[in-house]
Amino acid sequence: MEQSFGLKKIMISKKLITTLSVASFILIGCDTSSSCIESDSLIYNTTIYTANDTLPQAQAVAVKDGNIIFVGNDKEAEVYKCGNAKLFNMEGLFVYPGFIDAHVHIKGIGYRDLNLNLQGINSLKEMLTTVEIYSNSVEPGGWVVGRGWIEKNWPEARFPTIEELDRFSPDKPVVLERADGHAVIVNSYALNLAGINSKTQDPLGGAVIKDKSGNPTGLLVDKASLMVEKLIPKKSKAQDKRALKIAIANSIEYGWTQLQDAGSPYSDFELLKEIKSEGDLNIRVQLYISDGPNVLKKMVKGFEIDPEYFLSTRGIKLYADGAIGSRGAAFLSSYKDFDTSGFLIFEKNKTMPKLIEALKKGIQIQTHAIGDKANKVTLDWYQEAFDTVEEKDRLIKDPRWRIEHAQNILPKDQQRYRELEVIASMQPSHAIGDLHFAEKRLGLSRLKNAYVWRSLLDLDVKVVGGSDAPVEIGDPRIEFKAAVSRTDLDGFHGEGWHLEESVTRDEALKMFTKWPSYAVFEEDVKGTIEVGKLADFTIFSKDLMTIPAEEIMSSKNMMTIVSGEVVYSR
Ligand SMILES: [Zn+2]
Repeated sequence: MEQSFGLKKIMISKKLITTLSVASFILIGCDTSSSCIESDSLIYNTTIYTANDTLPQAQAVAVKDGNIIFVGNDKEAEVYKCGNAKLFNMEGLFVYPGFIDAHVHIKGIGYRDLNLNLQGINSLKEMLTTVEIYSNSVEPGGWVVGRGWIEKNWPEARFPTIEELDRFSPDKPVVLERADGHAVIVNSYALNLAGINSKTQDPLGGAVIKDKSGNPTGLLVDKASLMVEKLIPKKSKAQDKRALKIAIANSIEYGWTQLQDAGSPYSDFELLKEIKSEGDLNIRVQLYISDGPNVLKKMVKGFEIDPEYFLSTRGIKLYADGAIGSRGAAFLSSYKDFDTSGFLIFEKNKTMPKLIEALKKGIQIQTHAIGDKANKVTLDWYQEAFDTVEEKDRLIKDPRWRIEHAQNILPKDQQRYRELEVIASMQPSHAIGDLHFAEKRLGLSRLKNAYVWRSLLDLDVKVVGGSDAPVEIGDPRIEFKAAVSRTDLDGFHGEGWHLEESVTRDEALKMFTKWPSYAVFEEDVKGTIEVGKLADFTIFSKDLMTIPAEEIMSSKNMMTIVSGEVVYSR
C-alpha cells in the first residue's frame, strides 16, 4: 500500500482506484525532513476547482485545524507530506469547494423517509395504489399522511379526485401534500373532521377548490391546507430530532456541506443545537425562522451566529404567494388555463412593521415569491423599508435580503434586484420540472420572464442555487445539470423554453458554493478553496466542469469533507 500510495511516484491504474473505497486513500505520511510544514491532511494529485478567480484550478490543498493552509500544485505540496498528515491521493477524482444548498427544509427531508413518500411516482394510478397499500397499514381513525406527489408528468395529467381516495379510506383521514408544499388533496373523512363543506369560504391566502355543483373536491390550496393540517397529531420532539438526523445523513451523502433552511420553527433550531452539543452535527446549517406569531421576538432572542459556522440563525422567512402548479402564485395578469391570477399570502400592514424592525435589528429577510406580482410587491416593500430605515439606523448596513424562488420577474423588476441588491435564491430543478406545464399555465410570452438566471447574472445580481428539498430530490448533480442545460434529466425542453437563460459551468459552481456563502454573510470564511478558509470540500468522480451535461448524473459524490473531517465517503 505505502509504495503505491505513499510519497513516491504513484503507479496505479485508474481501474484499481475506482474499485478501492475513497477512505482507503488515507495514509499517514512519514517523512520528517527539515522542510516539513505541519498539516493535518493533504489532498493531492487531483484536479481542484477552487471557485476563486485568482487561482481557479490547483492540484493540491493542505488543511490544518479545519482550515485551508495551502492551495497549489503537487510540487509545492511536497513539503506537507510529512509528520502526521493524512494523505489523500485523489487521482482520477475532482475536488470542489463544499457544495451548499441555499434553500432546503431540513426536517422535511427527514420526514420524507419517515412518512409516506410519494416522490418519483409516475402516474396517478401508481400513486393511488401506493397510498392504498400504506393506508391498509394504518388503524381506523389513524392519519394517512404523505407528501411529494406531483401530477406534472403523469399520463392522466390531473389531480386525484376525492372519490378515488374515499374508495379505500372510508374510516381514516388521508392528507397528501403536493411536492411543492402548496396544496394538499384530502379525502371526505378529513374534510368532515375539518368541517369543510359546500358552504365553506376560502380563507385569506388560500382556496378550497370546489366542483361545478359547489362541493369541495378535496383539493386545498395554500392557507386552506391548514384547515386540515392543523388537525394532524403533532410529531413528538424525539420524532422531529430523528427526522433532522436522517436529513443530515442524507445530505452529506449527496455532497452538501451546508444547508440553508428556508423557514422552520425556532424549536427546530433548538433541536439542532442539541444535536450539535451531542457531536452529531457534521454539516453546516443556517436556519431562517418561519413567519408566525411573535416571530420577531423569537428571532431577536434566537439571533445567533456560531463562531465555528456550524449552526446559525440570523433571519426570518416570509411568504408572498403560493406556487404555479396549484395556481396560487400571484401574477399581474390571469393564468392562461384558469380564471385566476393567484393571490398574495402576506398583507402589507402586518409585513411592513416586520421589515422595518428587522432592518433596525440586523435580521435578514428572505421572502418566498414566485409570480411576477409577488416579486414586484416584495421588491416594493423591501424598497419602502430600505427608504424608511436609513443606513445609520441599521444594525447591518448591507442587509442582503433575499427573495426565494424569484421565478417570474418582469424585466424592470429584474433591474430592481440589482438596484436594491436583493439576492435571488433560485432552484434550477424547479425550472426543469415546471417546463412541462409552465407554458400551459402562463402562456408562451410570459416564459421569457421565467427562471431568468442568465439575465439576472448579466445584471450582476447574486444568484444562489438551492434544491428546495424535499420539494425536489436535493441532489447537487440534478441542480448543477439543470442550471447548465435547462433541460430535464432526459434532455427534454418544451417550445419557447429560453435555453439562453442557462448558466456556464463556472457560474453553476459559484451558485452552489461561493455565492450562497455570501448570502449568509460567510464569504470571508468559506465558499471557495483559498488559504484561510474553512476546509469544506465535495469530491466527485467526474469533472463537472467539462463533461457533457448528459454525463453529469453519472458522476458520483465520492467524499464530503467539512472542516477538514471526512463526514462521508463512498
Ligand atoms: Zn422551500
